[in-house]
Amino acid sequence: MPEEQGRTIAPLDSLSEVLSAPLDAEQRTEAAERRPPRDQAVRDVVIVGSGPAGLTAAIYTARADLQPLVIEGEPSSTSDQPGGQLMLTTEVENFPGFVQGVMGPELMGSFRAQAERFGAQIITERATRVDLSHRPFGIWTGPVESDTPTYLARSIIVATGARSLMLGVPGEDRLLGHGVSTCATCDGFFFRGQPIVVVGGGDSALEEAIFLSKFASSVLIIHRRKELRASKIMQDRALSNPKIAFRWDSVVTEVLGDPKVSGVRVQDVHTGEVDDIAVDGCFVAIGHAPNTTLFTGQLDMEESGYLVTGPGTRTNVSGVFACGDVQDHVYRQAITAAGSGCMAAIDAERYLEALAEH
Ligand SMILES: Cc1cc2nc3c(=O)[nH]c(=O)nc-3n(C[C@H](O)[C@H](O)[C@H](O)COP(=O)(O)OP(=O)(O)OC[C@H]3O[C@@H](n4cnc5c(N)ncnc54)[C@H](O)[C@@H]3O)c2cc1C
Repeated sequence: MPEEQGRTIAPLDSLSEVLSAPLDAEQRTEAAERRPPRDQAVRDVVIVGSGPAGLTAAIYTARADLQPLVIEGEPSSTSDQPGGQLMLTTEVENFPGFVQGVMGPELMGSFRAQAERFGAQIITERATRVDLSHRPFGIWTGPVESDTPTYLARSIIVATGARSLMLGVPGEDRLLGHGVSTCATCDGFFFRGQPIVVVGGGDSALEEAIFLSKFASSVLIIHRRKELRASKIMQDRALSNPKIAFRWDSVVTEVLGDPKVSGVRVQDVHTGEVDDIAVDGCFVAIGHAPNTTLFTGQLDMEESGYLVTGPGTRTNVSGVFACGDVQDHVYRQAITAAGSGCMAAIDAERYLEALAEH
């Protein structure tokens, strides 16, 4: 068996061979209890995730005639959302090509239709397990305990994205995209001359607040403690900004307004005292989490859980590529995710070409 980056990799078609080898009686009974593989064919490319990164990778791999299968996720939560994070927003004004802006779900509907036009197969399922230790790689969408993968692939493009950590208070979900935001770069422009709050106390909260101060009439940072977690330099910048004020030892308990944000309800963590602050926007900046649990122990990750890639979109397992927010905690934009989806498709195509030559 060829050795690869410290892993023992099974020859390419060994899993298919195992699946098709004759079984003894005991194995036959066991196998009958297992779910049969949905799809015995070994796919060239399986893409996990259907946000801007995954669907761009689908467009490129489909046009390269690799007949990609996209496992788009299930509409069950914000971490697993067919179409990705833009399905949770209203207007997107910074995606190039849309002079008047475009609604997030409409944009993602176009990405999807374009991928399908070139023959990408999209299934509304959630990947529950992957096995990257054998080739072809195995991907499960059913019960994780099943021995048989649902799909087999020569290469995988991971585009499972990330999710913003949310406060989990009343009004927050309902008003997301209607004054509640998790992205200053995306939405700051909508709050010109208006008062807003930023919730959080780390570097990214202060970065968002400083950025937002260019647009908003005032920025109130609400933080649950008396000290900030942010670096000294960010603290100095925020504290000296005339538009930024702080509300210490306080938590937001409700986002108010209908149909858009009109204020936040804030509680002092020591006294329990509650008051309402009138604002037009509430930016939640308490962190992000990449959707990478599926790959724990198989793909290299940063301490924060983001996948490590490079050169290009390669991961530590050859044949597995990662693109979009799942490997990017810096830019986190639809256009950068789409750009890296294109890169992953080209990387996968070249990998498959090299594989075919051996
Ligand atoms: C409210 C909001 C507003 C935003 N506004 C803008 C904006 O105006 N402009 C801009 O450029 N960016 C904006 N962004 C950021 C932008 O949405 C993200 O940068 C971009 O969506 C990242 O794309 P992605 O494809 O990497 O991942 P995501 O969009 O996060 O998509 C991840 C995909 O992976 C799937 N998935 C996850 N786990 C599994 C699994 N186990 N099995 C199968 N599928 C799985 C999900 O279903 C989803 O399809 C906004 C984000 C939010 C939350």
